[in-house]
Amino acid sequence: MLSVQQLNPFEEVNLLFDRAADRLCLPDGCREMLRRPWRELQVQVPVRMDDGQVKVFAGYRVQHNAARGPYKGGVRYHPEAGLDEIRALASLMTWKTALVNIPFGGAKGGVQCDPNALSHDELNRLTRRYTIGIEHLIAPHRDIPAPDMGTNSQTMAWMMDAYGLIHGHSPAVVTGKPVELGGSLGREAATGRGVVTILQEMARDMPMDLKGARIVVQGLGNVGSWVVRLANEQGCKVVGASDASGGIYNPKGLDVTTLLAVKGLDVPADDLPAGERVTNQELLELDCDVLIPAAIGNVITAANASRIKARLIMEAANHPTTPEADEILADRGIVLLPDILVNAGGVIVSYFEWTQNLQEFRWDEDQVNQELAKILIAAYREMRAKAKTRNLTYREAALEIGVERVARAVELRGFV
Ligand code: NAD
Repeated sequence: MLSVQQLNPFEEVNLLFDRAADRLCLPDGCREMLRRPWRELQVQVPVRMDDGQVKVFAGYRVQHNAARGPYKGGVRYHPEAGLDEIRALASLMTWKTALVNIPFGGAKGGVQCDPNALSHDELNRLTRRYTIGIEHLIAPHRDIPAPDMGTNSQTMAWMMDAYGLIHGHSPAVVTGKPVELGGSLGREAATGRGVVTILQEMARDMPMDLKGARIVVQGLGNVGSWVVRLANEQGCKVVGASDASGGIYNPKGLDVTTLLAVKGLDVPADDLPAGERVTNQELLELDCDVLIPAAIGNVITAANASRIKARLIMEAANHPTTPEADEILADRGIVLLPDILVNAGGVIVSYFEWTQNLQEFRWDEDQVNQELAKILIAAYREMRAKAKTRNLTYREAALEIGVERVARAVELRGFV
């Protein structure tokens, strides 16, 4: 088996890219252009804390590729949001926007901090300072940030405001804003809705009856909580769920209303749905039909892949599975649908938000949801057809479609 234990997240993503580039016989120059970020910026983010002290955080914006349109990608606030992690996520954005065929490139940003340890005012100051640091790289037709782990619509409102103080009112500079400030209806639920849309398609094709299908969701933030809600509406039984503090398991199904009402699972047992506490490691190995990692990266590894019991893994998180684990899961016949398809709902509705902002026009929520499903299902079918005809895994097929589109755009632009 392949040994890739020494690779950092960006090298891991590039390993997958290289294999796609080999299959596509990409010329060396083009391959180099697509492998490395076109531009990256590291900034200091000094913040006056509530106690009067100044703390300095590291901030990044990595612009991986803009051959198909302006750079697009989230902003992550997390203690492990280092440069290699951000590069990996930026590169995945390039392949994701290309796979679902929306007119954007790929980027990602972040500040290495623990947002849970910062007050509302500290987060406001940190976000403004970070925005000022990267302000010259972002713009409605250049690079458009959005929320990711540790950030939300409030963060985007602060970013829009800080950018607007310099450049004038520019709602299209960020997406995932509050609806009152030009955000799109349906954006908050979009990533989770996309996950469940793909789940419905895959279940029909496998086939797997979603009524009573047992699902486990790691992460109960924006993405995970919407997955729980919408999968439950489809008749799935949520048997396990977790957040950073640990998980909860009930083979008969967790009470979803109670689960979604608690603010984090780190509360007294009486406030939680009936179930047994489990660690995040144990959660991933629970007996279930569908496992949905929706939190951090690198959680399905060579160390646990042989013990995973799910029939289907849906990667709602970015990069939750290492390349070694991928091979083990494929050998065991476990179906895995890749992040660049499964969690693309967020960037698709971000695209709708951006176009609504540019046109100063608002779509209703039904239209947003219908257009989202149309784009996602088309990408799913294209990926599935390629995987079948070329005998590829779904991840290989998805990446190949994305990489081929970006390589073609580079060629058509004529800069190599
Ligand atoms: P979030 O910050 O809203 O929620 C993150 C959740 O993960 C929280 O419940 C947190 O407690 C949990 N978590 C953090 N560390 C954990 C750990 N070590 N083990 C288990 N759980 C842990 O983030 P989000 O926006 O829901 O993003 C989740 C994932 O989805 C990320 O990988 C992100 O890149 C990806 N994603 C998000 C969007 C989006 O629109 N928000 C779009 C595409 C992909």
